Amino acid sequence: ASVAQIIDGKAIAKAIHQEIAEEVAQLKEQHGKVPGLAVVIVGERKDSQTYVRMKRKACAEVGINSINVDLPENISQEELLDQVLELNENPDVHGILVQLPLPKHINEEAILNAVGLDKDVDGFHPLNIGKLCMKGREPSSIPCTPKGCIELLKRSKIPIEKKKAVVVGRSNIVGMPAALLLMKNDATVTVVHSRTPEPQDIVKEADIVIAAAGQPQMIKRDWIKPGAAVIDVGTNAVSDPSKKLGYRIVGDVDFEEVKTVAGWISPVPGGVGPMTIAMLLRNTVDCAKAAFASGA
Ligand code: NDP
Repeated sequence: ASVAQIIDGKAIAKAIHQEIAEEVAQLKEQHGKVPGLAVVIVGERKDSQTYVRMKRKACAEVGINSINVDLPENISQEELLDQVLELNENPDVHGILVQLPLPKHINEEAILNAVGLDKDVDGFHPLNIGKLCMKGREPSSIPCTPKGCIELLKRSKIPIEKKKAVVVGRSNIVGMPAALLLMKNDATVTVVHSRTPEPQDIVKEADIVIAAAGQPQMIKRDWIKPGAAVIDVGTNAVSDPSKKLGYRIVGDVDFEEVKTVAGWISPVPGGVGPMTIAMLLRNTVDCAKAAFASGA
């Protein structure tokens, strides 16, 4: 039996897409132009291609102009850097997204450092991350996946202020910024990672759990305080011969077990995934608004 309310990320993302589509139409009326997002992909990784396709499709659905930059696997670091610098100068481009991971021969840090701060819709530029860490500073964009987690909590009316939150994972793109955002929202935050002894004892204290470890169904029923809100970022392929593709996607949370004890739970798929894309659209529109306001 389920006691948890299921957080329907797909429905929440759809509502956000509608809000954004309306804003884009308004911007078009006011300024005669629409926000533009450059989506850069290097090479032919299947998973990256899928993500990029979804992002471009979402842009089209809300009226954002998607500028497709498809580059070969063997592109040199310098050539890729030139592409990014060109996009920085392009007035029709308000956001630049470089799909990660990049091929091994390319220095990811150098590429992310080159993305113009005002076009950094992924929020991965070190200056934007730095500002996210600091009190009284505003990054121009906040990383999409953790921002989507917070938005799921807020739109589900789950209180964050004064609550105990535990983030499982400390990566640059999910765990670390998720912890910073929870702190900004006045939660008391603990971060658990692969070197943490007895993580279940720490997770069990949490009113809010954000799971981003990349470990299939690691978080079990007895890890969760009754009534807690559980946001599952994990997107893990596990083999499943009954599926056409031979695998299925599961989260970091054992959904069937945890839904019997949690107060709220986000499913995988259909939880954080769609929110990540919704927040990318949000960041793109916000960057475009800032550019339009400054007369660009
Ligand atoms: P990383 O592999 O970069 O980071 C994983 C983090 O989890 C690390 O900090 C690691 O610790 C920690 N960790 C690993 N194993 C354990 C463990 N057994 N117990 C506690 N902590 C552990 O992954 P990402 O942050 O990029 O992604 C996390 C998950 O989220 C993945 O499943 C990924 O597919 C998914 N994801 C989903 C997105 C979406 O839009 N829905 C977007 C991005 C990611 P340490 O630092 O010590 O190594």
